[in-house]
Amino acid sequence: MTSTESRLNAFPVFMKVEGCVVVIVGGGDEALAKARLLSQSSAEIRIVAEAPGAELASFAASGGATLVHAAYEPSLLAGARLIFAATGEEALDRTVSEDARKLGIPVNAVDRPELCDFFTPALVNRAPVCVAIGTEGAGPVLAQMIREKIDQLLSPSLGRLATLASSLREAAERLLPKGSQRRGFWNDFFTGAPARALEIGHIEEAREAAAELLLRRTAAQGHVALVGAGPGAEDLLTLRAQRLLMQADVILYDALVPEAVVSMGRRDAERVSVGKRKGCHSKSQDEINALLVSLGRAGRRVVRLKSGDPLVFGRAGEEMQALRDAGISYEVVPGVTAAFAAAADFELPLTLRGVTSSMVFTTGHDLKGGVLPDWAKLAISGATVAVYMGRSVAADVADRLIDAGLSPDTAVAVVENASLGNRRKLHGTLADLPSLQERADLTGPVMTIIGDAVAGADFTHSQPLAARIGASTQVAEVRA
Ligand code: SAH
Repeated sequence: MTSTESRLNAFPVFMKVEGCVVVIVGGGDEALAKARLLSQSSAEIRIVAEAPGAELASFAASGGATLVHAAYEPSLLAGARLIFAATGEEALDRTVSEDARKLGIPVNAVDRPELCDFFTPALVNRAPVCVAIGTEGAGPVLAQMIREKIDQLLSPSLGRLATLASSLREAAERLLPKGSQRRGFWNDFFTGAPARALEIGHIEEAREAAAELLLRRTAAQGHVALVGAGPGAEDLLTLRAQRLLMQADVILYDALVPEAVVSMGRRDAERVSVGKRKGCHSKSQDEINALLVSLGRAGRRVVRLKSGDPLVFGRAGEEMQALRDAGISYEVVPGVTAAFAAAADFELPLTLRGVTSSMVFTTGHDLKGGVLPDWAKLAISGATVAVYMGRSVAADVADRLIDAGLSPDTAVAVVENASLGNRRKLHGTLADLPSLQERADLTGPVMTIIGDAVAGADFTHSQPLAARIGASTQVAEVRA
């Protein structure tokens, strides 16, 4: 039995209101707030107000409610399913509450718990699915906080999925025996192909996928999501990435993906580090491709977590090809790429009106050959250049660009551990950039941004990248 202190004094129920009248008494902000809340339902809202405020009047005029422009009297409550006393005046709220109780109609009086028969919850609305959060009047702010968290967890398409589920319930009961088979079907329905199709708005495809599941009862199809984990800060993860992590059976992640993001996965998901930091590949790309295919074939829901955006220097092309060849369904979830995080850390406009209107993502590793790559020409014509994995080739990048005609005075910004608490910012010019290569103190991932737009950045918490001071002095300076 539940212990006394964990018993609820207000028990949640879902009241049917379709086609029913709900009366709100009051013409001010409290009444408007209640009217807005109720307008999430199909109740007929009747507002009784002697002096309705302008916003309330226009809410009613736009079809949201019927406005009874009159002084309150008990007869106006007749036939209501629920009543809200929201006049802002204690005496009048009390009268309304007493009248409601005489009529046997449940009443809520705004901010007056003693006059309430019920409380209104904070709502996460995915009609027909609804999560209602109540605190028995203790904390509306707390309720809103919880509401926001839950709202993020639930897919915006959940309501449509639930509606589709209702339309299939009868067929599922007819075709599948009660117990594990039927449960298995619903499990696949809510997390598998039908859910994925609805997520991207493909209703017909969702219906077909559901029919297929139902009729063939095929073994659950595996699915791989190539998910961008963002640059490091866990709150730069997308909501979609977070949802997929919570549904995953297996999570494969790269070395640059922080532990905090990996641990957002479903508690009993298997977690596999596939490494890939410079110099220590724990699995080859071929091995990773093969692993993705075999997990997909085994019917697992796989999240392949990559730092930043999966399509930017993430070798996603090879993984997608392997999955396509094997006929395994997959999707791609974008992430905040390191260049964007570094630019944000520096408040650096990547495009700047009148200065630069194009941007290059490069590694700089292609500068070693004899021919100047095309992007170098773009840099010379003013594009902003973001160099990934550029620390060990910093000198090459700088020398070649200067040789090709880019001014040695072009501004350069460097961020180590962009978006993270331990990030470090450095700035200077193209002539200073080679010094980056000798900096043994930079152990985290480093993003280099080159171009005239960089000059517009905020350098307040940034150290000079000056090549002319010895590396050791610079370390001391940074630590100071
Ligand atoms: N797909 C990733 C890039 C992977 S390549 C993305 O979109 O961001 C790895 C390189 O990304 C690193 O060598 C570094 O140049 C850059 N990088 C990744 N995370 C970074 C971070 N937090 N700060 C700075 N650079 C980062």
